[in-house]
Amino acid sequence: MKICTKCGNPQVIIEKKYSGQVLCKECFIRTTTEKVLKNIRKYKLIKKGDKVTVALSGGKDSVMVLDILNSLYEREIINLTAVTIDEGIKGYREDGVRIAASNAKKLGIQHKIVTFKDYLGTTLDEIMNKQSSREISRGACTYCGVFRRWILNQAAKDENATKLATGHNLDDETQAILMNYLEGNIDNLTRIGPKSEAKTSQFVVKVKPLREIPEKEVGLYVVAKELEVHFASCPYSSDSFRAEIGKFIKELSVDRPTIMYSTLRGFDKIRPVLKKEFARDYEMGRCLNCGEPAAHDLCRACIFCKELEDNK
Ligand SMILES: [Zn+2]
Ligand SMILES: [Zn+2]
Repeated sequence: MKICTKCGNPQVIIEKKYSGQVLCKECFIRTTTEKVLKNIRKYKLIKKGDKVTVALSGGKDSVMVLDILNSLYEREIINLTAVTIDEGIKGYREDGVRIAASNAKKLGIQHKIVTFKDYLGTTLDEIMNKQSSREISRGACTYCGVFRRWILNQAAKDENATKLATGHNLDDETQAILMNYLEGNIDNLTRIGPKSEAKTSQFVVKVKPLREIPEKEVGLYVVAKELEVHFASCPYSSDSFRAEIGKFIKELSVDRPTIMYSTLRGFDKIRPVLKKEFARDYEMGRCLNCGEPAAHDLCRACIFCKELEDNK
């Protein structure tokens, strides 16, 4: 019979193949929380006095980030707020927004909901419904990613946030590494890391406290702590290249349980070299239309908006 390697409790809830650790519920919650807090210190993601805004979708990842950062908020180390983006995805987003609000309320954390409709005058569903009649068509994840980043940065600035915390976990990060590598997108690769080191103060620094926590353990954490989360997955996500890569890495992980960590560790080793050699050193200006940071006259969000407007 397996017993908890920390305390000897026979009621174990996880056996970590990559480390050999077997843990009971209490020891799992404690060691996972400690690991996240340790990474926050190690990579200097958050410091005392920071005003952190969590990008709270209501999914397991962001709910876990909020839960762990709340321990720093309770100890008055940081200030904490949450913001939820409603992209306008019928039959999916409503539940997420409700659950996000409920989590923030339970912890007494100030919470704001911002919508694609408010910022763009249209929803993601509307954009995708009209997609076939357009000259330029893009995948839902492309629009969503660009618009969400654009809105989140503005929403975080409105909150006077010094850090924007997202729920990216180990699976997300290794997917991003492999995906950009396979696509030869070196420019994107130079931007992957635990913290976005923004060249301009117009970007709120983004941090990923769960970067070294496997997705499976994020799921187990929210179940073990009985946190309310939105478990449905986005109806647009399944056909993405990212989803294919995710499936591939998961399959490899069955016989090679350390593969995600080795991908991450190896990448982190070459990251400084990549940055030094390939990070594009263009002057960041401001978008002529919205004033957000942009490498050219218009930011990507405004370019997309213009395309959508021209192709109505
Ligand atoms: Zn234990
Ligand atoms: Zn713009």
